Amino acid sequence: MSRPASDPLGVFGGTFDPVHFGHLRLAEEAREHLQLAAVRWIPAGRPPHRASPGVEPAHRLAMVGLAIDGNPHFAVDGAEVESTAPSYTVLTLERLRAEAGSRPLVLLVGADAFAGLATWHRWRELFDLAHIAVFHRPGFPVAADRLPGELGAQFAARLRPDKNTLGQSAAGAIVSFAMTQLAISATQIRHLLAHRASARYLLPQPVLDYIERHHLYRNS
Ligand code: ATP
Repeated sequence: MSRPASDPLGVFGGTFDPVHFGHLRLAEEAREHLQLAAVRWIPAGRPPHRASPGVEPAHRLAMVGLAIDGNPHFAVDGAEVESTAPSYTVLTLERLRAEAGSRPLVLLVGADAFAGLATWHRWRELFDLAHIAVFHRPGFPVAADRLPGELGAQFAARLRPDKNTLGQSAAGAIVSFAMTQLAISATQIRHLLAHRASARYLLPQPVLDYIERHHLYRNS
């Protein structure tokens, strides 16, 4: 039976440089726990918050496509990669909100990314556009008193203990989860590949095959 149109839509942004099993598990657990109709993966084109990614946006987009292939609940969105403008989450959420009407949107972020939220462009407006689901990541506990200034206050005020409330409004709440802990990072994978060490079983084999075929990350 198809799900009602009001089921929340997950939005998962990242550099995915490259995509790995930590990302896939986060999206899968989010979809299941939050009863998301689908998760839209949005690789950043030119992320303004960090050093330029190791490989071209088109490669990162292609690798996400390979990683999610076969999962009917996952879709990749190339709009940030195809745009020449800096990738700002608030602009992406405005675009998705215009498409989604009043359907709940849930921005999926790891705890490390959430801790830096107050540095994001027009960050307070994110809460007007989407709910935020924060996933504990190894080494990054989530608690209001560990978050800087106003972000901690926003976290405390918006945190909802019941994940089922997300379907009742379009935006504005925060939920927090302990996901399966996978201490995998793209940084670690780039490091291994640059040293010609094995990155097998940290990321899907079709992604690793793509990396080898295109000689990516050899000089990271
Ligand atoms: P890098 O090591 O290059 O910083 P990364 O592995 O953190 O990359 P990103 O593309 O920056 O990957 O992350 C996208 C999102 O996925 C972020 O919200 C991040 O917190 C989350 N994330 C990445 N890896 C994990 C993991 N192992 N467990 C939980 N969340 C993760």
